[in-house]
Amino acid sequence: MMAEAEMELNAARLLIYKAACNARDLPNNVKLPYMDESSMAKAYTGHASFKVVSDSLQMFGAYGYSQDMPLERMLRDVRMFQIGGGTSQAQLNMIARSIFKRKFDLRK
Ligand SMILES: Cc1cc2nc3c(=O)[nH]c(=O)nc-3n(C[C@H](O)[C@H](O)[C@H](O)COP(=O)(O)OP(=O)(O)OC[C@H]3O[C@@H](n4cnc5c(N)ncnc54)[C@H](O)[C@@H]3O)c2cc1C
Repeated sequence: MMAEAEMELNAARLLIYKAACNARDLPNNVKLPYMDESSMAKAYTGHASFKVVSDSLQMFGAYGYSQDMPLERMLRDVRMFQIGGGTSQAQLNMIARSIFKRKFDLRK
């Protein structure tokens, strides 16, 4: 579990660094990442951080689940990364848009 967590955190970091390094320069010292690269970084990081915290909680057994440890709170906090600032599904829609070079009807 620890090895997998290390691998996933590194993969998430690399996606973030890639989006940041390729970001275009805009006026006023603003950097704008490409939509597909930022969506991949956000979707993957949301997924990976939730899995890493969930596995960390599991490593401590029932104690990890209890409020004596910070992990139950961390698990709720990282869940937000898959909802806030664009849900994982919204990020995947943006990635699909980039792959197929077209917009999709996003009506529910
Ligand atoms: C802790 C927290 C902090 C937040 N902070 C901010 C903030 O700082 N600024 C801000 O602007 N917003 C913020 N939000 C709001 C957040 O961005 C929205 O909750 C999020 O975009 C989802 O919108 P919604 O709640 O209206 O759900 P809905 O849009 O109703 O979506 C419900 C579900 O349906 C899925 N879905 C919707 N449309 C599609 C589609 N076309 N294809 C596939 N799946 C779809 C969504 O992925 C989601 O799982 C925050 C939310 C949370 C929980």
